[in-house]
Amino acid sequence: MTGTYDVVVLGGGSGGYATALRASQLGLSVALIEKDKLGGTCLHRGCIPTKALLHAAEIADAARESARFGVRASLDGIDMAGVNAYKDGVVDKLHKGLQGLVTAAKVNLVTGAGRLVSPDTVEVNGERYTGRHVVLATGSYAKTLPGLDIDGDRVITSEHALRLDRVPASAVVLGGGVIGVEFASAWRSFGVDVTIVEALPRLVAAEDEDCSKAVERAFRKRGIKFKVGKPFESVERTDTGVRVTIAGGEVVEAELLLVAVGRGPSTANLGYEEAGLRMDRGFVLTDERLRTNLPNVYAVGDIVPGLQLAHRGFQHGIFVAEQIAGLNPAVIDEAGIPRVTYCDPEVASMGLTEAKAKEQYGADKVQTYNYNLAGNGKSNILATQGFVKLVRVADGPVVGIHMVGARVGELIGEAQLIYNWEAFPDEVAQLIHMHPTQSEAIGEAHLALAGKPLHAHA
Ligand SMILES: Cc1cc2nc3c(=O)[nH]c(=O)nc-3n(C[C@H](O)[C@H](O)[C@H](O)COP(=O)(O)OP(=O)(O)OC[C@H]3O[C@@H](n4cnc5c(N)ncnc54)[C@H](O)[C@@H]3O)c2cc1C
Repeated sequence: MTGTYDVVVLGGGSGGYATALRASQLGLSVALIEKDKLGGTCLHRGCIPTKALLHAAEIADAARESARFGVRASLDGIDMAGVNAYKDGVVDKLHKGLQGLVTAAKVNLVTGAGRLVSPDTVEVNGERYTGRHVVLATGSYAKTLPGLDIDGDRVITSEHALRLDRVPASAVVLGGGVIGVEFASAWRSFGVDVTIVEALPRLVAAEDEDCSKAVERAFRKRGIKFKVGKPFESVERTDTGVRVTIAGGEVVEAELLLVAVGRGPSTANLGYEEAGLRMDRGFVLTDERLRTNLPNVYAVGDIVPGLQLAHRGFQHGIFVAEQIAGLNPAVIDEAGIPRVTYCDPEVASMGLTEAKAKEQYGADKVQTYNYNLAGNGKSNILATQGFVKLVRVADGPVVGIHMVGARVGELIGEAQLIYNWEAFPDEVAQLIHMHPTQSEAIGEAHLALAGKPLHAHA
């Protein structure tokens, strides 16, 4: 139905559909405009399919390394059609569930490409949807570098990589950030000869330096090659693949090149500039309440500068719907958003890195403690290595939690509560953790920082 709504949402990804669902719960009428599939990047081309791939990779590793655990099994190969069927099955099931939620919420889901034709109106297929409030949620796309043409065959993005019907013999991954290391990790488990090329001096450079070191050490052991501090120079297509030249003239050859150099905001040619929206390098600028400079126009998710994460989109969406409904929600602390990189070993972090904390509070006001997973029973059972590192303000709360190791992503929930509730180490130290679990490592780190280490040297 065209017409006037309380809220018109442009884009049905994590940010957009979360806005629509929460607004509808609050009794607002909603039109949600989506040109492709409800669920956006995360569900169809991002979080969910990559994590399915990584789970298949974990199973391949378990089969390959089974003898270490006294189990006789062998890895006979990777059936990519089978992996894809499993991955697509997970996505399809979640997609159906989401469609059901949106229908049940009586959100008017409009299929088609929308354009902002005035600050309160979006046009789709020649029809106009006017909102007392408009929420922009058009998401992001895989960026490339000047002179680097994506052909979808030899030079690909994560989107193509998720549709590969074969396991390549070798690959160069351009970019050692989250998406790059996740693909490198999964492919290595599938037997691919992988080289990561990263311009910054370390892998997962947004994380605490100790996390980068641990991931690099683990990747070296796993046979994942990487070249850091080496900007890309050029790529040439050859008969068998690609020849990639990096800074210093070094050449790496492989069957394909995955370009994972970050994601840009999808905001071009949507009428945003014409409507007078304040933008910076394509990102939509907002205040801390996600209000743009145009009255009653909000922006959520990846088009807003900051962490490009699905649950940040959910949080933005819930926030904006509540803001529109007059509930005055608490402003979102960007550092309070959990971050997980699902390579093997996983990296999970909350709050400030040690370096950032020292910048913010002064080096003499920051204490850290690094609990090695070698002292954690469950981690030994899983044969994983890593640590839980705490960063605290002297006589103050924990302001950073950084973890590396298999499955540590699942520990982020507790880390999130500790950071967001501004817990002191001795408060967490009072809570005993289930034995044997990896969560004990969080407990042990806090015990140690509170001055009473248990399974750790003082
Ligand atoms: C490979 C990969 C792995 C990732 N893994 C994770 C992860 O593990 N965890 C995590 O938290 N995040 C992950 N992300 C990031 C996550 O997918 C994004 O942060 C999230 O999808 C952003 O949500 P969004 O709503 O801002 O945008 P999107 O999900 O991109 O949704 C935007 C939607 O708007 C639609 N749209 C755009 N223009 C128009 C228009 N003109 N008219 C109508 N519709 C339009 C698009 O079709 C799209 O559906 C990953 C991303 C990638 C690429």
